[in-house]
Amino acid sequence: MNKIIIAIDGYSSTGKSTLAKQLAKELHYVYVDTGAMYRAVTLYAMDNGFITQESFNKEALITDLKNIKLHFVFNEDRGFGEMYLNGKNVEKEIRTLEVSQLVSQVSTVSEVRKKLVEQQQAMGEEKGIVMDGRDIGTVVFPNADVKLFMTASADKRAKRRYKELLDRGDKNVTYARVLKNVESRDYIDSTRVDSPLTKAEDAIEIDNSDMGLEEQFERIMSLISTRV
Ligand code: C5P
Repeated sequence: MNKIIIAIDGYSSTGKSTLAKQLAKELHYVYVDTGAMYRAVTLYAMDNGFITQESFNKEALITDLKNIKLHFVFNEDRGFGEMYLNGKNVEKEIRTLEVSQLVSQVSTVSEVRKKLVEQQQAMGEEKGIVMDGRDIGTVVFPNADVKLFMTASADKRAKRRYKELLDRGDKNVTYARVLKNVESRDYIDSTRVDSPLTKAEDAIEIDNSDMGLEEQFERIMSLISTRV
């Protein structure tokens, strides 16, 4: 079978990673969650005091970028690669609302993007990859064989993310805070100067506000099966 690159972009909490994991499992492809990489850089910036709710010392982060080493380690039980920051598994820490509240600011920094995009492109050299993010079909793999662009209403997305955070035991979270975060990330991600979130011309748009996971998966698999 012909190995291809599948690029999935879209707004926050549209279920990109769920779909990407389903596709990677079915096709025996590698799944790469690029949001995890931006989140790990954000965690590093938080841990080193470069960014707080009140301030962001971009220069300090840029100078220190060379000391940030990111890699994924495949977890057999979970079926996907977990994010490691300088040799430490940070998969859980990068998913908190605190990281979500700062990640979009960190993602506006061109030097950060350049470093991560290079690493992402290297991971796709062998093809057979499903990658999700905000700029995969536009910047990372403009020649990807299949490009999907996911949307859903802000309310549906916030409800899904809120439930996820509650299930993870995050007790400080409220629906209102999650909705605010989803909306503010959408805004920053779509209006930033470097690689804004936008639908590639040749991407297929999927609004899953009222679509079940199975239905979505079946539809996309039938679309992809003509290309592999
Ligand atoms: O996908 P996830 O919601 O985990 O991504 C977290 C944040 O990382 C996004 O809101 C965006 O600011 C940033 N991001 C990005 N480019 C990507 C992936 C994520 O700017 N390719």
